[in-house]
Amino acid sequence: MKGLCILGATGSIGVSTLDVAARHADLYNVVALTANNNIDLLYEQCLIHQPEYVVVVDENKALAFAEKLKNSPISAIKVLSGAKSLEFVATLENVDSVMAAIVGAAGLLPSLAAAKAGKIILLANKEALVMSGDIFMQAVAESGAQLLPIDSEHNAIFQCMPAGYKSGMHAKQARRILLTASGGPFREMPLDQLVNVTPDQAVAHPNWDMGRKISVDSATMMNKGLEMIEACILFAMTPDQIQVVIHPQSIIHSMVDYVDGTVLAQMGNPDMRVPIAYSMAWPERFDSGVEPLNIFDVRRMDFEEPNLERFPCLRLAYEAINKGGIIPTVLNAANEIAVEAFLNEQVRFTDIPVIIERCMEQFEAKAASTLEIILAADQQARLVSKQIITELTH
Ligand code: NAD
Ligand code: MG
Repeated sequence: MKGLCILGATGSIGVSTLDVAARHADLYNVVALTANNNIDLLYEQCLIHQPEYVVVVDENKALAFAEKLKNSPISAIKVLSGAKSLEFVATLENVDSVMAAIVGAAGLLPSLAAAKAGKIILLANKEALVMSGDIFMQAVAESGAQLLPIDSEHNAIFQCMPAGYKSGMHAKQARRILLTASGGPFREMPLDQLVNVTPDQAVAHPNWDMGRKISVDSATMMNKGLEMIEACILFAMTPDQIQVVIHPQSIIHSMVDYVDGTVLAQMGNPDMRVPIAYSMAWPERFDSGVEPLNIFDVRRMDFEEPNLERFPCLRLAYEAINKGGIIPTVLNAANEIAVEAFLNEQVRFTDIPVIIERCMEQFEAKAASTLEIILAADQQARLVSKQIITELTH
């Protein structure tokens, strides 16, 4: 029996993880669930999974949640609040596996705490890795933690790596990674119409059902930019070894090109329960609840090179990793602020890359050698981005 902690249980990945865990209650015991503020969903999840701990980050919501538990059949659950409690539950003695599924920079400290504590980390929170790549991988290596990627592309690449492969290793025989992308909802929209797209249009992804932030990132292709950086870190590759490939059907989830000319691809229906189940069962496999792939329904698969004029965020991500140091952190923070402003209808869709680029211009590529430097760059980039938004909108 493995103890499971889910950071971000109420999100899209969290919900899929609990679905898989419920299918394997003989193997997984849910020890802790965390949420930012969605206590209604959290309560439903607690009724089913009966964790020992929950964390509700928002203090008032945590009080309301504790109130709700009183006189309920699940009153024994311990309720904690505050961001520090995320680190506490991620490092509990009886937790073996931590699903890191908080969105954005907020996931960095608890994910890193799990890495330092030597847990099996199921990493969905790509932003944490983009910010702290070297420090994160060092923590994993030093503690003997096992890092298994949940992002469907990185999970696919991991599955296509040689036997015995561990995250962070450089597989010499693998010469290139082909990182697939759906191209999002605006792949074919005339360029002059992008300025008018609404948040609702941007979050309506053609193939995947995801949280709002990552859905906007998919529409701008910043998601692929973050994933390209994530792939460089996880697989010890250089940016020029990673080719982004637009594959609108999302059946192939990425490929590894070997020195002998072999290209290995991982395929499946686009449902995050596949990579989640793979990582939960690793090194075995078990049922994910996902329908078998009907190859005859797929019929055809298309592949295109991404157009950097349509997707300037992808160009900015390459720029950020090539500059290195704190610049990927700045890219990520500026993107989080710009996407939030877009979702709040303060800025236009096409302003997102403008905000990020202007923000990046204001930073030197100082080495990301300590967590303090990274967190300070994150905070600074958020302030600068808000300033840029004020200038743009007045
Ligand atoms: P989501 O918005 O659906 O859920 C986010 C979760 O994080 C929620 O449980 C929320 O309560 C929690 N959260 C948000 N802000 C928080 C904060 N400040 N402090 C603590 N908790 C907070 O997001 P999602 O789509 O599930 O994505 C989660 C992560 O997984 C992201 O990093 C995303 O890039 C990655 N990911 C998601 C998918 C997908 O299909 N959804 C695929 C690949 C990678
Ligand atoms: Mg992905």
